[in-house]
Amino acid sequence: MSETRIDVLVAGGGVVGAALALALARARIDVALVETRAPPAFDAADVDLRVFAVSPASAALLSRIGAWPRIQALRVSPYRRMRVWERGATDELAFDAGLVGAAELGHIVEDRALRAGLWAALDAEPGVRRACPARVVRCEAGASDARVELDDGTRWRPRLVVAADGAHSPLRDGAGVDLESMPYGERAVVAHVRTERPHEATAWQRFTPAGPLAFLPLADGRVSVVWSLKDARATAVLAMDDDAFTAALTAASDARLGRVLATTPRAAFPLRMQLARRYAAPRLALVGDAAHTVHPLAGQGLNLGLLDAAALAEVLSDAAGARADLGAPAVLARYEHWRRGDVARAAHAFGLLDGLFRSDFGPLPFLRRAGMGLVQRIGPLKREFALHASGFAGRVPVLARRLG
Ligand SMILES: Cc1cc2nc3c(=O)[nH]c(=O)nc-3n(C[C@H](O)[C@H](O)[C@H](O)COP(=O)(O)OP(=O)(O)OC[C@H]3O[C@@H](n4cnc5c(N)ncnc54)[C@H](O)[C@@H]3O)c2cc1C
Repeated sequence: MSETRIDVLVAGGGVVGAALALALARARIDVALVETRAPPAFDAADVDLRVFAVSPASAALLSRIGAWPRIQALRVSPYRRMRVWERGATDELAFDAGLVGAAELGHIVEDRALRAGLWAALDAEPGVRRACPARVVRCEAGASDARVELDDGTRWRPRLVVAADGAHSPLRDGAGVDLESMPYGERAVVAHVRTERPHEATAWQRFTPAGPLAFLPLADGRVSVVWSLKDARATAVLAMDDDAFTAALTAASDARLGRVLATTPRAAFPLRMQLARRYAAPRLALVGDAAHTVHPLAGQGLNLGLLDAAALAEVLSDAAGARADLGAPAVLARYEHWRRGDVARAAHAFGLLDGLFRSDFGPLPFLRRAGMGLVQRIGPLKREFALHASGFAGRVPVLARRLG
């Protein structure tokens, strides 16, 4: 059977892989995208339980690759403020979009809307060759390219393969890349709920002793709940009837939005920090959940993955401009050096924060409140926090920089 020569083959057409394929096509790099499942259809009548807080940097990237207007046309919910507290109003942190000179701090977007918008953008982009549904079943690195085989029997010879195939990445494991892995012993319980008072386009987060609880504003006026709980407590919360669950949420949220009145069925996701020890192997680069999974308390998992995609697209575009081999070790080392340290620092910080806010050991409660009070009062420190959450701190890839 014949083999197709190509610059880059992206394995995995989730949000990160699809965004990367579009970015590479715009840089005139010959790219193929392989995805096992056709993207789920967007359902205007039903709000997907899986939602993300999409940062302004991620929205800038999605705009530049032609996907954001399509996603906005489906459904997004902008939030302009964020309020974080532990107990009572005295130890509250409040961020406003004006702090980072933006109209909003981010958007709450459903997974289905992101995927549908990205795949509509792919329909309009002839530069991406697509194989879907198809699965990468074999990948071998050679001296000048890789040999890839799909389950439909087709064969490809890309200079570089990108593993965007999720947290259980078969490509990463096949290349023998080790993981630093730490289960948190927690699950995130998610549901959409209706509250007595409006959400005020605000993302609410309370650090409860049982775990962080987020109320994220939805376009239909409800809020999306993400409650990270130790396994035993998560099991108990999942077993509650709706009245007990809404009452538990009212108490855990300090009734900031009044009583929780109604809920959808609940779902739960196991949480684990997982960091690949290398982001590159011969003829292979890792992006998104294949490279890292982090605690959801900062809502940054997908945003970090989209920044990987923007950084890798920039490194490969520079290499193509210099007529370099896109899978050369020096090219991949540049990408790994850019992203791995940043992501590892963020992942460890999220894990530390989670542990810090669960413990009532010794002076910790006092230190937490003092720390929050300090950040709230010191303008530049607060701005720095908000810049990190927006994705505009540190070395930002060109595709993810502020628009306009
Ligand atoms: C409860 C919870 C809440 C979260 N909230 C947020 C949030 O608010 N903000 C945020 O930024 N992140 C959040 N995250 C993290 C976010 O879900 C992930 O980081 C993101 O979905 C990862 O995207 P991805 O494209 O890397 O991987 P995936 O979405 O897993 O996509 C991988 C794709 O690869 C395909 N695939 C697998 N194997 C193959 C193969 N061999 N060949 C071809 N295709 C293959 C799969 O079909 C899949 O479509 C949250 C996570 C959880 C658990």
